Amino acid sequence: MSPVLVLNASYERLHYVSLQHAVRMLARQVAVVEEAAAGRPMGPWPRPKVLRLVRYISTRWRHRQRPGWSKRALLARDEHCCGYCGGPASTVDHVLPRSRGGADSWLNTVAACARCNNRKRDRTPEEAGMPLLSKPFVPSWEQILLKH
Ligand SMILES: [Zn+2]
Repeated sequence: MSPVLVLNASYERLHYVSLQHAVRMLARQVAVVEEAAAGRPMGPWPRPKVLRLVRYISTRWRHRQRPGWSKRALLARDEHCCGYCGGPASTVDHVLPRSRGGADSWLNTVAACARCNNRKRDRTPEEAGMPLLSKPFVPSWEQILLKH
């Protein structure tokens, strides 16, 4: 799979993403196909070679610091996928539950579906026997802005 070049809304080059990531950006309508590649279409879109963002991203402040935590940003970081079952997620789960001192922080939260969240309750993943599919991480601005 060849990587897809992502351009800012102003046509400046930003970086490369995988074809799979490119299709997710198209599905979320954060980017449009600027240049198509030869090959089979990807669903309703031509196979992308170059994408362009719909909204301009400021490249000056983008790299300065890590984004602050918010529910919306967290769901974007985890691509709206449940950290326990991989299904569509719309809630925030605290790895160490808030009732036991767990913080609203990047490393203590994962996106979760309502079902897994209810099942886990105020337990840690170990206590609940619900291993995390991936480790929580502090995202970069890029990982947030290109995904919501
Ligand atoms: Zn789930």
